[in-house]
Amino acid sequence: MKSSFETTPQCRFCRYYDPQGRRGGFCRMLHVGVEATWESCPLADPCFVGEVIPVRPRVTAAS
Ligand code: SF4
Repeated sequence: MKSSFETTPQCRFCRYYDPQGRRGGFCRMLHVGVEATWESCPLADPCFVGEVIPVRPRVTAAS
């Protein structure tokens, strides 16, 4: 299993990162302003984890 540093190398890939404006964002975990390109901290949590579950095929009406 990959560590959070491997899956979330920068703040912009963290689920707690909220982009604000053109330069930076806000960390909802630490309640501070952060930059998107900053190296992630030990609290980082990737946005997308786990297996991808395929969508069921569309059911067509029987004629
Ligand atoms: S400071 Fe840590 S918890 Fe906050 S957005 Fe960056 S990586 Fe995520």
